[in-house]
Amino acid sequence: MVGERILLAEASGLCEEIERRSGQSLRACYQCGECTAGCPVSHAADLTPNQVTRLLQLGQDNEVLRSSMIWLCAGCETCATRCPRGVSLSRVMDALREAAVLRGIPAGEPAIRTFHETFLRAARHHGRIHEISMLMECKLRSRHLFSDLLLGAKLLLKGKLALISSPVRDRDKVEDIFSATRP
Ligand code: SF4
Ligand code: SF4
Repeated sequence: MVGERILLAEASGLCEEIERRSGQSLRACYQCGECTAGCPVSHAADLTPNQVTRLLQLGQDNEVLRSSMIWLCAGCETCATRCPRGVSLSRVMDALREAAVLRGIPAGEPAIRTFHETFLRAARHHGRIHEISMLMECKLRSRHLFSDLLLGAKLLLKGKLALISSPVRDRDKVEDIFSATRP
């Protein structure tokens, strides 16, 4: 209880904002490290998941918003199933990405932000994803033109990538969803 009162006193504006956006209690985290022990991407990131929660509790907002961890999170929910305090860090990372974008902070992993934006634009305009056009746009925007070419060719040969996009019915409803969920 005493520990929780201390954390409550230390909570920053961003910590409260992220709790509100994500519906998760960051101040319930007591740094056991279970989330980090199971996270499949923390080895490649500059911060571990439990460091993200601790830095938010301590008001180190900039360090968190600029970190690669918030972009590398794969949303696998391993942390949520392991956390004894019921914290889902994938929801926290979603909220942190949103907060970083709204503040104009450059992404810690620019290619991942480009992928998110391209995916959402394609979903909004076409109602579904046409992988080939989306990947081509992604490559052009990230300027990684020739990476994964062999993999792409293999997928194409195995019929895993459709050459022509098929339209969806009720595209207006897709637009309604995007309008309703704008932050
Ligand atoms: S949801 Fe994100 S933070 Fe949690 S274990 Fe998966 S990759 Fe790591
Ligand atoms: S598992 Fe939960 S309580 Fe433990 S460090 Fe991670 S978020 Fe905090």
